[in-house]
Amino acid sequence: MNGLKQEKIKETLNATRKRRKRQIPRVYQLKLQNLSKKDRKKLDRLFLEAKWLYNYIIADIENRLTKDSWKLKQVEIKTPEGFEKRDINTLSSQMRQGIIERIKHSLKSLKKAKEKGIKAGKLSFKSEIRSIPLKQYGITYKISGDRNRIKIQGIKKKFRVLGLHQLIEDCEIANGLLVKKPSGYYLYVTCYLQKEKALEEIKKKQTRQPIGIDLGIKHQITLSNGEKISWYVEETKRLKKLQKTLSRKQKGSKNYFKTKLKIQKEWEYIQNKRKDTLNKAISHLKKFFLIAIQNDSIKGWHEGYFGKQVQNTGIGGITARLKRLATLIPVFFVDRYEPTTQVCSFCGHRQKIPLSERTYKCPLCGKEIDRDVNSAKNILKIAVEKLKGEGKLLKTLPVDCGEVTPVEWAIAHGEAGSLPL
Ligand SMILES: [Zn+2]
Repeated sequence: MNGLKQEKIKETLNATRKRRKRQIPRVYQLKLQNLSKKDRKKLDRLFLEAKWLYNYIIADIENRLTKDSWKLKQVEIKTPEGFEKRDINTLSSQMRQGIIERIKHSLKSLKKAKEKGIKAGKLSFKSEIRSIPLKQYGITYKISGDRNRIKIQGIKKKFRVLGLHQLIEDCEIANGLLVKKPSGYYLYVTCYLQKEKALEEIKKKQTRQPIGIDLGIKHQITLSNGEKISWYVEETKRLKKLQKTLSRKQKGSKNYFKTKLKIQKEWEYIQNKRKDTLNKAISHLKKFFLIAIQNDSIKGWHEGYFGKQVQNTGIGGITARLKRLATLIPVFFVDRYEPTTQVCSFCGHRQKIPLSERTYKCPLCGKEIDRDVNSAKNILKIAVEKLKGEGKLLKTLPVDCGEVTPVEWAIAHGEAGSLPL
């Protein structure tokens, strides 16, 4: 009987894997609406139990991480008065399994890091768990689109959500993630769309132009056609003010926590704005049918002079998004050692130009051009030439139009992108 069951699970997994090859993931964020005090309490209980379970297992991984640990109905927690028992009665078994899988996953990553010689510590206790995995749609959570309600396992009430219309019809709903943020509770839903359908959508809006991209440290994308897209949102004055206020409050006092919450909310607001501008930038880029970008140009910055500045801009976010975009549109990554800033995009003359110089002035052909536009043009040129050389682009492709044979598409990993795990 058991063997049969195992066999069946294996079959289902294989079928899913096959299906996923023709699909692309998309994550939608739904906010739970009109929560009463009672609702919040119930949701908070889920997150609290998740924390108890997590910390309990972490405290003695060798003995507590077993194949039966998802059955735990009671755990011990450490309080100032000593150890006390706590019941796990709201967190469903699938949710518990989700938490345990997360622990296993973290252990694996730690092991991998250690194997690579990276200094990695142990898993540490959490003072708060901000997200709960909801595996198996239909069991841990359900969506009823006609009534704009979602149901979460273990909670009787159905929550109202906005934004269900974003969920495209006939997409396959998969895992969810229940997330607690300063501004409220959210359900992140992963959906799988048919690749062909997503492509159709893109193609409707697509021009036949290829484009080169130069990523700048001044928070912007420069395109080879001269367009500049700013995708970075500065920290607000309010945030700076709040941080100052916090430093004057007595740590641990009521006002301290009040200000801290305000800071978290402001942070969330900034992050949302950043995400929004990034989304807009990406949807603009979808209009081009070939994108060329310099690979790992960011890596160099991390090590170099601008290291810190680049890290703070979250530029990694955009490369991650571009990598995902690469499953839909041909994205060509130009080697990072190509001297794209030094070469004149008109005549090919090469010269060193200082970082402070914002205009490329060519002594050979006399052209003057914005430094970043010049390098975006070069990036595109390199990509087009390379692809032509490999026979992946027909020779007639100029920089504005032409016939194209399909470019080998890179496969991007990581479905949810920047989920707050
Ligand atoms: Zn020149």
